[in-house]
Amino acid sequence: MFDVHCHLDFPAFDKDRKEVIETAFKENVKIITCAYGIESIEKTNKFLSAFKEDFNRKIFVSYGISPQEYDDEKIEQFVKILKKDADKIIAIGEVGLDYYWERDIEKRKLQRKNLEDLIKISEKLKKKLIIHSRGAENDILEILKEYNKKALLHCFSGSIKIAKKSKIDLGCVISIPTSVCYSKSKANLVKNLEIENLVTETDAPFLSPFPGQKTRNEPVNVKFSVKKISELKNLSYARADEIIENTVKKFFDI
Ligand SMILES: [Zn+2]
Repeated sequence: MFDVHCHLDFPAFDKDRKEVIETAFKENVKIITCAYGIESIEKTNKFLSAFKEDFNRKIFVSYGISPQEYDDEKIEQFVKILKKDADKIIAIGEVGLDYYWERDIEKRKLQRKNLEDLIKISEKLKKKLIIHSRGAENDILEILKEYNKKALLHCFSGSIKIAKKSKIDLGCVISIPTSVCYSKSKANLVKNLEIENLVTETDAPFLSPFPGQKTRNEPVNVKFSVKKISELKNLSYARADEIIENTVKKFFDI
């Protein structure tokens, strides 16, 4: 199975990063870790190169940048790194729109413009996109449609209608986080979408599957998402695991 989205460079993993990764591998969990911002990219590459030999083809990296960091200088620097490291990365993201933290209309406009530029770059570099969206699902879908861009919608929190449209119109996949274990709206999303449309993530160190406990989330916990999806879809755990893994492989061409 795959944890298609987590942040292994975060300080929460500084003490036991290698063990966390090995624990995931022991349970057959492959990982896409998202480096989020310039410093995060540097840190991610540092730990990945230290572990490289053992982790080949089981851990992948995507480079993203927060919509809040969308100023010209940062974007320029980010794009330079993307071009330089194109062979190293599996996708660009998370990138997207965040209307929850950004209320200013002009700044939201800038977020959209930057997203469009990043989509153009992703096309040039032939990379898939991992989308971050908070309160901006309509605009995201509209922009993706304009560029006919297939994307992975990370930690999707939009409506069932938008999720379905993103699949039908563009072939997007919807990523279900470990919070599906207790979140009714996420469970509802799973019930209403075809399993072939879903992938799984932890967003670790965030979104622990154990509500109420302030425990750190980690990639191995993605199995709880797969288990919950199998229950909601009335499938065996093994079958759900197989379908979801195939979707990830097909989507990223790996
Ligand atoms: Zn994330």
